[in-house]
Amino acid sequence: MSLAPHIRPKSYLHRAHFLLSWHVVVQTEGGCGETENLIDQPAREKRGFIVPDQNNEKQIPPGLSEALYDARNASEGKEAKGFEGPPDLFAEERVDVSCDLCKADEPDMLFEKEKFRYVRCRRCDMVYVTPRLRGIVEQQMVSYDVFAHHSNTIEELIAREHSGKRKRKLQKEVAGFLSYHTTGHILDIGCGLGGFLHAAQEQGWGHAEGIEIARGVAEYVGRYFPVQTRPLEEVHYKADHFDIVRAHNVIEHLPSPKAMVRKVHRILRPGGLFAVSTPNFDSISLKLLGKDWPYICGNDHVYLFDPKTLTCLLKEEGFRVIRLKSKGVHLRRKDHTNGDSRTPLSRVCGAAETMLNLVIRRTLKGHRLCVWAEKI
Ligand SMILES: [Zn+2]
Repeated sequence: MSLAPHIRPKSYLHRAHFLLSWHVVVQTEGGCGETENLIDQPAREKRGFIVPDQNNEKQIPPGLSEALYDARNASEGKEAKGFEGPPDLFAEERVDVSCDLCKADEPDMLFEKEKFRYVRCRRCDMVYVTPRLRGIVEQQMVSYDVFAHHSNTIEELIAREHSGKRKRKLQKEVAGFLSYHTTGHILDIGCGLGGFLHAAQEQGWGHAEGIEIARGVAEYVGRYFPVQTRPLEEVHYKADHFDIVRAHNVIEHLPSPKAMVRKVHRILRPGGLFAVSTPNFDSISLKLLGKDWPYICGNDHVYLFDPKTLTCLLKEEGFRVIRLKSKGVHLRRKDHTNGDSRTPLSRVCGAAETMLNLVIRRTLKGHRLCVWAEKI
């Protein structure tokens, strides 16, 4: 497949890779070690999804590669007909926006990076990007999709999503939701490659669904779970429907976090749980790295929350915050696009970060905010 001629391939793919890294690689929480086992034998008939084969730990199963190959071909066919795509993520038309939380338009300038201005609302302290790219959701959809169809590492990402440390972490997360199980309806917004959905299904959530705007990824996950490829605000779900709605690494990307939270409130049953995580602008990592903090990415991360602003948003939209935690620290900029995570220096930093995190996670200064909020 060839990109449209006006697209600068190196820049475009680099950024697309970077963008999807948030959704797939970064969620491994530094778990950049070797994949422990791989996935999928031809046991897919009963929506059993992906079954690790303990006897075949070091090779991609043929069935999986074929599924991806099919997905890629399907997308290439679509793109060949009329793929326009955003030509340059940094040259797109930009629009001024006001604060999404309180609608005020009197921000203080914080800093600028790559021609994106970060400001803080004087009224509610929300940090956001203005002006920002027009049609940011559309450009994200194309960016993630382009990566999904061009990366040589997609099989590796899928394998990691469904095995080893990442899998155990997701299983543990799902287990924490047990007390909310009544109807078995659970929604993962930004479900990526489906690891959370799989873990939920394994633990008795009979109606696990996802939203994933990267169509190539959704094509893969959609073979096993109901998946929508449009933003939550454009999808119709029944009111009071879900026991759990999960949104990890999503809210910071949205043109209107408030609209998304309002929609989540509508589709959760009373007493249902919204589990949300997002980068923490009040983190030690930001103070250490400044603008090099990897979450400062103005074309994609247009809202940066801290404990105060996220709590405020949730309360305003009818939630009761029952858990507010943070975790994680970055000592140096990580670049997932060049194998940086496997260098000796990176491994040393990773070990130090793990140690520091034991302290950081007892505070609200970690780089990731993790919030549970119940629908009142
Ligand atoms: Zn505001």
